Amino acid sequence: SYSNLLQSVASYVEGLLKIEDCSDLKLALQIAKKRGTPPLQVIPTDGRCLEILARSVQAKKIVEIGTLCGYSAIFLAKALPANGKLYTFEQSEHHAQVAGEVFAELNLSSKIEIVFGKALETLPSINSKGPFDLIFIDADKANYPNYFDWAIENLRSGGLLLADNVFVFGYIGEQDLPNGDLANLVLAMREFNKKCVEDERLVTTFLPTGEGMMVAIKK
Ligand code: SAM
Repeated sequence: SYSNLLQSVASYVEGLLKIEDCSDLKLALQIAKKRGTPPLQVIPTDGRCLEILARSVQAKKIVEIGTLCGYSAIFLAKALPANGKLYTFEQSEHHAQVAGEVFAELNLSSKIEIVFGKALETLPSINSKGPFDLIFIDADKANYPNYFDWAIENLRSGGLLLADNVFVFGYIGEQDLPNGDLANLVLAMREFNKKCVEDERLVTTFLPTGEGMMVAIKK
């Protein structure tokens, strides 16, 4: 079937790239496992995609919303020059601590600043450091439309706005909404996706990665 073929393509690509064999990524996942953070990080090929996109705009200042154990942050940091900076926002004290440990082990602490707290409240604290070259949204889905409002104002011209999980586990296009909270997340994500598409300052598309990645460039 088509989905079996897609799976064998994914295995082929993973086997070819062997991204997860990198010692820094292995160490991050080892620490995350030991400290019991949930395994909700981007898949290695999506992490590589983040690195390539960051390199393509020669990013020096990056913002990430949703740190978890710092896995995607490692890819973004790879793209930064020596004097570059990644600001990564995390509301869970436990996740922020684990990410801090990971960055310290990998000598990334000077390049990556973890901003602890609810991102909607803490994002304005870095406005004066902007505008930013790349903003990656990967946190609470209900707030994506609000993160959009902050991001569009704080992204440089020629900068990239990226967001993961924009297909909401595949439900994004379904006429019949799933039950409960998931329905609200689908509605929030539709609002976010529409905002990205309708804003005339952006050129937007959606990459059919595992979780769906919105990619937009600011004109
Ligand atoms: N970007 C990470 C990676 O790929 O390695 C994965 C991030 S995980 C999917 C989402 C993270 O966002 C969780 O660690 C969660 O605690 C955090 N989060 C949820 N709501 C948040 C909020 N309002 N402000 C900041 N972080 C939040």
